[in-house]
Amino acid sequence: MGRLQDKVAVITGASSGIGGKTMELFGREGAKVVGTARNEAKLNEHLEVVTSAGGEGIVVPADLEDDSSPDRVVAAALDAYGTIDILVNNAGVGWQYGIDNPGTMAGVHEASVENWRAIIGGVDLEGYFTMIHAVLPKMLEAGRGSIVNMSSMAGITGLYDAHAYTAAKGAILNLGRSMAITYCKQGVRTNTICPGFIDTPMIAPVVGAFDDPAVASALCPMGRPGQPEEIANAALFLASDEASYVNGAMLVVDGGCTARSFPG
Ligand code: NAP
Repeated sequence: MGRLQDKVAVITGASSGIGGKTMELFGREGAKVVGTARNEAKLNEHLEVVTSAGGEGIVVPADLEDDSSPDRVVAAALDAYGTIDILVNNAGVGWQYGIDNPGTMAGVHEASVENWRAIIGGVDLEGYFTMIHAVLPKMLEAGRGSIVNMSSMAGITGLYDAHAYTAAKGAILNLGRSMAITYCKQGVRTNTICPGFIDTPMIAPVVGAFDDPAVASALCPMGRPGQPEEIANAALFLASDEASYVNGAMLVVDGGCTARSFPG
């Protein structure tokens, strides 16, 4: 307890999955949490977990595809708490979005330029840049900050068909590395998490494949998907002062998926 005592943490995608559990964990660890996403009711469910355990936070409903949202989120955080110590840049869309928006998770030959822009120019990549762009000046002014970007194992390996998503996740990694070396002397660390299969609504269309033990061990050496809490724990470490010399790192949390050359 208290690993983020009195720090102010902005968490995007806090209405669901990894972001929701990150908000809950950070709140338990003493952070004042500022959760943002579009779904206000679901944001409030996660905030309720924080406040009912004695923690503190606010929610800011916002669509990160709207250019005015990042500044509005930052202004709300500053209004409430006066500073921002941590940004967990986590909001994103994937498989479920691809079903709802055909072509966006498709291969190059099946995707339109509009499909590509929906991912690269949408929440999956541009949304990361715009949140950093809004938060960073405050961190530089304060001379401290920790930014944790959520990439994916699909940022370090290819993913069949989902070329725009894979390109976005790879770009997030190198955005993090160049930020890390640029801003560390001004007190701002940047690190990246690469989750494997995590049991959240994003991969609801495919996570059922783990029910078959043979398929499960082909998908992941540990034979199971990760839980969002297991990614929140990684974010907690990177965000905290325990990671004071961790900068520009890529923390892979994937049950060993990317550690092997072929299924055993
Ligand atoms: P999730 O449960 O579907 O959550 C995604 C979050 O992003 C939701 O809170 C959603 O909130 C928010 N979001 C989506 N579009 C948004 C928009 N336009 N504006 C603001 N917020 C938006 O998915 P998750 O698995 O927790 O994913 C979190 C991150 O982990 C993503 O970046 C994802 O790529 C990454 N990741 C996930 C996995 C996995 O297997 N689950 C693996 C590797 C990486 P609203 O709908 O309320 O806006």
